[in-house]
Amino acid sequence: MTKRFNRFEQDPVIPAKVGIHKLRSTVSLECLNMEVVGTITEVRAAVGRARNSGRTIGLVPTMGALHVGHVSLIERCVEDGHFTIVSIFVNPTQFGPGEDFEKYPRPLDADLQICQEHEVDLVFAPAAADMYPSENLSWVNVEKMTSSLCGRSRPGHFRGVATVCAKLFNIAQPDVAYFGQKDAQQAVVIKKMAADLNFQMQIVVCPTIREADGLAVSSRNQYLSSRQRKDAACLYRALEKCKSLVRSGTTDSKTIIAEMTKTIEAVPSVDDIEYIEIVDAKSLEPLAAVTQKALVALAVRIGPARLIDNILLDAPDD
Ligand code: AMP
Repeated sequence: MTKRFNRFEQDPVIPAKVGIHKLRSTVSLECLNMEVVGTITEVRAAVGRARNSGRTIGLVPTMGALHVGHVSLIERCVEDGHFTIVSIFVNPTQFGPGEDFEKYPRPLDADLQICQEHEVDLVFAPAAADMYPSENLSWVNVEKMTSSLCGRSRPGHFRGVATVCAKLFNIAQPDVAYFGQKDAQQAVVIKKMAADLNFQMQIVVCPTIREADGLAVSSRNQYLSSRQRKDAACLYRALEKCKSLVRSGTTDSKTIIAEMTKTIEAVPSVDDIEYIEIVDAKSLEPLAAVTQKALVALAVRIGPARLIDNILLDAPDD
C-alpha cells in the first residue's frame, strides 16, 4: 500500500483541540509530498532513499488520533531536520483484556491531514498483520521499572510497548525517536530498553502539552462527557498541589499523596484513583520523600476514561 497523499474520501474531521494550526485546502495539499505506506518493505525503501540523499531519520511512534501533544513531537522532529516518520499503529499487544483496544479512535484521514500539515515525510500505518505476521514469540521485557505505576494495573502493557517500539526501531532504524513526558513511565522504559539493547539511536522526551485548565491532552479525553471533562482538571490541580507543598517545604511522600488524594476525591466524577505515586525519576523506585529528582505520577478513572498524568520535581534544595 503506497499512497501519495493527495485526496480525502471524506471531509476530514479535525478535533477542535487540534485547531492551533490552520489547515490548508485539499487543493494545496495536492502540491505537497508525503508518502503513506503500510508495509515494512516500503518503510525500508523510503528510509534507504532518505539516507542516500544525506538525511538523518527521526521517528515519532503514535497510535493515531493525533492531537497537539503528538504535533509537538512531530514539530520537534521536523525542526531537528530529520526525515520525519510518523508511525500510526494501535498496537494490540499493549492492550489487556477488557481495555479499550476496539473502541480506540482511528480517524486516519484526519491524522494524515495533520501529518501533511506538519511536513511529515513518511507515515507508516501498518495493519496488525504487517507488524505481527505470525504468532509473536519474542518479547522485550524491561524488568523492575515496569512493575510499578501503570505496570501494576496493566500487566503486560509495557511488554507490548517495548516490543512494538523495538520492532519500529528495527524497521525504521531512526537516529532519534521522540516520546512525550505525558507517558512518563513509557519514556523511561523505552530509554532503558534502547540503552540495554544497544539501539544506536537517541531517545528525546518532549514536554507534556496541556489544555487551558491543565488537563494533559490525550486521545482518551474524547471519551469524557462535558461534566467529566471539566472534572478531569482535578488531576492537574493535584499535581499543582504537590508542587506547592514541596515548594513550601513538605517533602514526605505520604503526606503529599494524602493531600493530592483529597484534591481528587473532592471531585464528583472521579470513580477511582488507581494510583498516586512518588518515585525516582530514573529508576521509578518509590521515594519516601522528595529528596532527589522525583516523578509524581497518577492514574485516575473518570467514567469511561483512564487518565494519567505526571510532573517531574527537583529536590527542594536543588
Ligand atoms: P499515543 O498515540 O498515545 O501512543 O502517544 C504517542 C506519543 O505522543 C507518546 O510518546 C506520548 O507520550 C506522546 N503524547 C501523547 N499525549 C501527549 C501530550 N499531551 N503531550 C506530549 N506528548 C504526548
